[in-house]
Amino acid sequence: MIVSILLLIAGVGVLLALRGPGGHPPGPAAGSPPPSVLLIGIDTFRADHLGPPGPGEPSRTPHLDELARDGIRFEQCLSTAPWTLPSFASIFTGLRPYRHGAVGGERDYLSERHTTLAEHLARAGYATAGYVGINYLTAQFGMDQGYVSPPPRGTDLTGLDQAGGVTRLSGEFFAEHRGAPSFVFTHYYDPHAPYAPPAPWHRKYYLGNECRPGEPLTARILAAGGVRGENANRGMYDWLAGVTDPRFPPAQYAAEVNYADDHVGRLIARLKELGLYEQMLIVVVADHGEHLGEHGFFYTHYLPYQETIHVPLLVKLPGNAGAGRVVAAPVSTLDLLPTVLEITGIAVPDTLDGRSLAGLLLGNAKAPPRDLLAEQGSDPDDFCKTLVAWPWKLMLWREGGVERTALFDLATDPGETRDAAAEHPEEAARLTARLRATYDPSSPLGRGAPGRRANVGKSDIRLLESLGYVHKPPASAGGEG
Ligand SMILES: [Zn+2]
Repeated sequence: MIVSILLLIAGVGVLLALRGPGGHPPGPAAGSPPPSVLLIGIDTFRADHLGPPGPGEPSRTPHLDELARDGIRFEQCLSTAPWTLPSFASIFTGLRPYRHGAVGGERDYLSERHTTLAEHLARAGYATAGYVGINYLTAQFGMDQGYVSPPPRGTDLTGLDQAGGVTRLSGEFFAEHRGAPSFVFTHYYDPHAPYAPPAPWHRKYYLGNECRPGEPLTARILAAGGVRGENANRGMYDWLAGVTDPRFPPAQYAAEVNYADDHVGRLIARLKELGLYEQMLIVVVADHGEHLGEHGFFYTHYLPYQETIHVPLLVKLPGNAGAGRVVAAPVSTLDLLPTVLEITGIAVPDTLDGRSLAGLLLGNAKAPPRDLLAEQGSDPDDFCKTLVAWPWKLMLWREGGVERTALFDLATDPGETRDAAAEHPEEAARLTARLRATYDPSSPLGRGAPGRRANVGKSDIRLLESLGYVHKPPASAGGEG
C-alpha cells in the first residue's frame, strides 16, 4: 500500500486516510522539507545483545531501548553476509552481495556503477557525511561514495576512543548543517574483536581474574576447529594472551556493546539539544553479529549461522510515528535503502533486491512470505550460502568443489544444532533448488557481477589480519578484474 509517513505525523485524520483506497504518494508533504537522516551502523552487534540478556536483568543497551520506544523495532532482521564489506555494501546499495560484487578476495571494491544511499540523498540535495571506524568503509574499498564531506581516514581507526571521534564529528555535522536536510552515516566499530572496552567498561561485566591458572583459552579455541590456523597465526587472538577464563571474552563483548550504546545515547542527546531529534529519521542496524563459541567459532564472524546474520534493526520515524511498534515479520538489511528513499520522497529504483518497509513501519501492511539470503566467500570452490524461508533455513557449503547442505528449523532449533533434512527431505530439496536458482553454480558471485580489487597497502593488510580477516595481497594491484 502506498503511504505517506510525514502526513501520518500530522494526526489521526491522516491515519484514516492511509487506510482508505489509494492513499497518498510517499514522502514528505508538499512544502515540507525532507527529514534529516541518521544511519547508525554498529559493527558486530548480535540481535540477542539488544535489551536485557534475560528476564529481570538490566539492559545492555538502555539508550537504544529508549530509541526503540520512540520508533519501531524489527525482531527478525537478517543481514546479507557475516562480515563488514559485503554486508554494508548491501545496506548502501539495496543489492545482494553477488549483485553488488564487493564480496572480498579479488573482488573487494564497490563499483562506482552502483548508486549508494548517500549518493541518492546527495543528488536530492542532502548534505552527506560518513564517519567510520574501519577501513573497509572508506574510499579504499569504494565505500565512501556519496559523501560530500569525506570521512576522516587513517587516524585511530581501531583505537579505544574511535567511538568518541565518530560521535563528536557526527554531532558537529548536524549542527553545521542545521536547517538543511542532512544525512550522516555513523559507524561504531567497538563490538568487533579485539574486545577492549575502555575504563570503566572493562570491569563492568567481569570482575574476576581472567588470567587465573588454567588452560589458555586460545588452546581451547584452536582445538574447537572453527578457526583456521592461518587466521589464528596472524594475530587475531593476541588480545587473549594469558587469558584462561572463558567467561571473560563474552563479558567484554557485552561491555563493548554497552559502550557503543552509550555513544548512541550521547549522539541522540546532542540531536535533542539541537532540536533536530523529533523530526529526524534515525535507523540503527548492524552489519553482522558474532560467533561467541557457537558452531566451533569464537569471537569472529565467519559462517552465516543466525548468530552472525540475525541483527538488530530500529527505525525512528519523523515525529516518532508508530512509536513502540515491534515487527515480527522477517526483513532484510537490503530493505533500508528503499525504506529511507520512500520516507524522504526520493524515487525508489525498481532494480533493488530490498523492499521498502514503510507499510510495516506504519502497521498497515503485512509482509508477504519471502526468501532471505546470506552468503560468505568469494572463491568459486569455497563458499557458504544460506536461504531463510521462515521457519526453515537451508545452508549450502561448497568446499573444494564438493557441496553439502543442512536444513534447520529455526522455530524449534534456533541454535541450528540439528540437521532436519533427513526428516524433511522435500523441504530440503525445495529450498536447495530455490537457493541454487539465485546464483550461477559455477560462480558464487552470480552472473555478470564485475569485480575489482581494492588497492590496499601492507600496513592495512596487517591491520585487517589482526582483526581476523584473511586478506591476500593482489596478484596485480588494482584495476578491473
Ligand atoms: Zn563488520
